[in-house]
Amino acid sequence: MESTMKAAVLKDLETIAIEDVPVPEPKDGEVLVEVRASALCGSDLAGYTGQHSMIKWPIILGHEASGVVAKCGRGADNWSPGDPVTIEPLFTCKKCHACRTGKYHLCSSLKFAGHQMHGTFAKYVIAESGFLHRKPENVSFREAVLTEPAASPLHAIERCDIRLGDFVVIIGSGVTGLFALQYALSKGAEVLISDPEEFKLKIAGDFGANYILNPGKLDLRKRVMALTGGMGADCVVEAVGISETLASTVSLVKRGGTILLIGYSEKESEPFDLSTVTLAELTVLGMLAYFNDFPAALKLMSLGRLKA
Ligand SMILES: [Zn+2]
Ligand SMILES: [Zn+2]
Repeated sequence: MESTMKAAVLKDLETIAIEDVPVPEPKDGEVLVEVRASALCGSDLAGYTGQHSMIKWPIILGHEASGVVAKCGRGADNWSPGDPVTIEPLFTCKKCHACRTGKYHLCSSLKFAGHQMHGTFAKYVIAESGFLHRKPENVSFREAVLTEPAASPLHAIERCDIRLGDFVVIIGSGVTGLFALQYALSKGAEVLISDPEEFKLKIAGDFGANYILNPGKLDLRKRVMALTGGMGADCVVEAVGISETLASTVSLVKRGGTILLIGYSEKESEPFDLSTVTLAELTVLGMLAYFNDFPAALKLMSLGRLKA
């Protein structure tokens, strides 16, 4: 096997260079994966523009990828060279309370490929053997890279107690919002999705949203109240992460309802008055990444139940 590989290295602010770098050696429990496909995420862009606190250069970006096993480290004998896989791009300590109690995504020293570890914009990448998932035969390498962005909204929606016939509002029709839409629909909800970009709304309509709304043209709150008999939504999913949309969640949710915060911003804080949460007995849920969610996301893709 070659000793160097091509990699796209973020060298400095908005500076990426294609360089020859050493092929990394898998340590105990790790696997070297030959990358076949890798997608660009919003966080890669945030790292490139110096707006992501976890990403410091020099680093190889990228964390949404699929490929084939190239080499196994000691103790990673559950995999063999040539196995087709998709990568759950986490590194955990295996020792902290979260790891020992099975909630590895909350590991106190959690690291992501492409954030604190070298990522997937290279010929090879290191992954933990326990965080590789076999790619189903009928899912292509290109499709399989979407397991990662599909897994976090799956994790998030599974945290809400969405019931058949519930009214769900999703704010933001980006990749995350569109996956959340499909999960909420599959749980039997009636879903309104809101976004200022018409082309994103069109995709949401094609994916089966019951209502699409451009908040630049129509009043979102009025529409939600009209559709729910003045009650508000059972669940509001915020998938943008800016103060305006975060603040709007409390005005859209019913008393006793649930607000799910998927959108993430490093800048916004305290967007709404917490007394509203108390007085309307709201449930506000956060979410971080995914936790045993890759197998379900891959299965839904393999069954053709997830559009991307
Ligand atoms: Zn991502
Ligand atoms: Zn840990």
